[in-house]
Amino acid sequence: MNVIDLRSDTVTWPTDEMRTAMAAAPVGDDVYGDDPTVRELEAYAASISGKEAALFVPSGTFGNQLALLTHCRRGTEVILDERSHIVQHEAGASAVIAGVQLRTVDPEGGHLTAPAIERRIRAGDDIHEPKTSLICVENAHSNGTVIPLSAMESIRRIADRHHLPVHLDGARLFNAAVSLGVQAREITQFADSVMFCLSKGLCAPVGSILAGSRKFIDEARRNRKLMGGGLRQAGILAAAGLIALKDMRLRLDADHDNAKLLAQKLSEIPGVSLDMGSVQINMVYFSHERQAQIDEEAFLEFMKDRGILINGTDESGRFRFVTHHWITRERVAAVAQAVRDFYTGD
Ligand SMILES: *Cc1c(COP(=O)(O)O)cnc(C)c1O
Repeated sequence: MNVIDLRSDTVTWPTDEMRTAMAAAPVGDDVYGDDPTVRELEAYAASISGKEAALFVPSGTFGNQLALLTHCRRGTEVILDERSHIVQHEAGASAVIAGVQLRTVDPEGGHLTAPAIERRIRAGDDIHEPKTSLICVENAHSNGTVIPLSAMESIRRIADRHHLPVHLDGARLFNAAVSLGVQAREITQFADSVMFCLSKGLCAPVGSILAGSRKFIDEARRNRKLMGGGLRQAGILAAAGLIALKDMRLRLDADHDNAKLLAQKLSEIPGVSLDMGSVQINMVYFSHERQAQIDEEAFLEFMKDRGILINGTDESGRFRFVTHHWITRERVAAVAQAVRDFYTGD
């Protein structure tokens, strides 16, 4: 990876160890339950997420939508943050696959809270109303923020009071765990099901995990088939997933340290507006102080000429730089220097 790609942690290539393990993986037909590498991955994934069982799925979107399909009846309602991935970035799949209505909460810059959720729960006693069937929480959020355990616990209490399941979109679950200084299962204990990605900061080329109770995963396995996600010799992919969970998970703190280092260096550049407190995982958000005077296209081109790939600003006018395995300290320094040169006109 010669370019410095800060667009996301999904851009990570598999490591040499992963490629070696993939080539050597024992495989079988996983639709028959015959793939030993997939079975090993699912057992290990279940154990670190503190759940009875786990299922290998093709993507994070697939895992979330499979969870909705398995938890919810058609026409029921799911309560979740309006900025969540399920609402914003899954192509409206919830309407097509699970056939549910998404009831969104605007957390006004903060995170989803139990009282805000409880106000929207509908028991369905009135025939006009859809019935709430699920609460979804995203942690870490794809905007780089982490929900504290106390808030997760309050949401769990509300859910229990109303006999509702909780699904955790934990695409970056292990980043959240590192940020909170806890084991992943301390976060997942508050959810009935959890999805996490192997193919983001953990570097696997493909795949996510959906974990939950044995009964839930048995049903999800049938629904995965329905959705066309029953894969045959998937051990080739699971072999990389095992390295993702066993080894790469343990180095995420380096990405967080590099994000802080990058944020520190960027914040020292005159014209950059950056809140150090917002750097909780591997994401650095910043904006230009004099937005109007900066030509965004020119900035993107300038960075590209230096071999640095970035995305344009989000709806709130902020750039997001994401650190990952291929963003070393040296590369952090090169990125900060490039931004400084752009600002100072070098
Ligand atoms: C990336 C992401 C997903 C979906 O993962 P894909 O593998 O890209 O489908 C779901 N939720 C969140 C919070 C994500 O960041």
